[in-house]
Amino acid sequence: MKLYIPTRESEYITQYFGKNSLTMFYCSACRKYYSRKGSNICPSCRKIMPLVKVYENMGLKGHNGIDWRCYYKEPIDYNCSNPGIVKMVDNDPTGGMGVEVVSYDKDTDKYYKHIAWHFIKVNVKVGDKVECGDNLGLGDTTGISTGNHDHEGVKQCNKDGTTLDYNNGYKGAIDPYQFYDMEYHARELYFMRKQIPLLYKAIEALKGLLSILKK
Ligand SMILES: [Zn+2]
Ligand SMILES: [Zn+2]
Repeated sequence: MKLYIPTRESEYITQYFGKNSLTMFYCSACRKYYSRKGSNICPSCRKIMPLVKVYENMGLKGHNGIDWRCYYKEPIDYNCSNPGIVKMVDNDPTGGMGVEVVSYDKDTDKYYKHIAWHFIKVNVKVGDKVECGDNLGLGDTTGISTGNHDHEGVKQCNKDGTTLDYNNGYKGAIDPYQFYDMEYHARELYFMRKQIPLLYKAIEALKGLLSILKK
């Protein structure tokens, strides 16, 4: 299984797997996180909020994925070499919008769940089949987030999408960095794959035309 660069601003991985420095204000009554750049008074219930380590507060050892900076409404495409099926879609902007896709890797005989998060709009539905380069949605900063980015997570799972090794400290997430092919951008790869057969057909047509002209 390979993952390709998901966003245009590919140089900017803003947070790696396992990092645990993100702090935000947290209202335990409303169960909501707020940027530490703003006020520590909860806008909903007016209680004073403590500054918390976000991942610890979520029961994680650290960040459970890799964050790729994106621009507002940047198309985020499915960036895995194996085709997959959309297993879960979250359209609630308060919790963050995103997509989970399950794919099978025949090289390792394993199923993987691939998570992309913090969208402003989701463009797929549960049950959709997706291939590398198909659009999943548009990037933003919905949910627990401090700036526009695509959070990418990978979990090993069963065929039905049930996460394996859920108690590994990251709710089953593993470091996705090992899967990235930093040479290719998912969308550009898709474009190339679409264009190369067209180019090939054009060359063949031209050859045919030349052979007719020669006669
Ligand atoms: Zn509150
Ligand atoms: Zn993240």
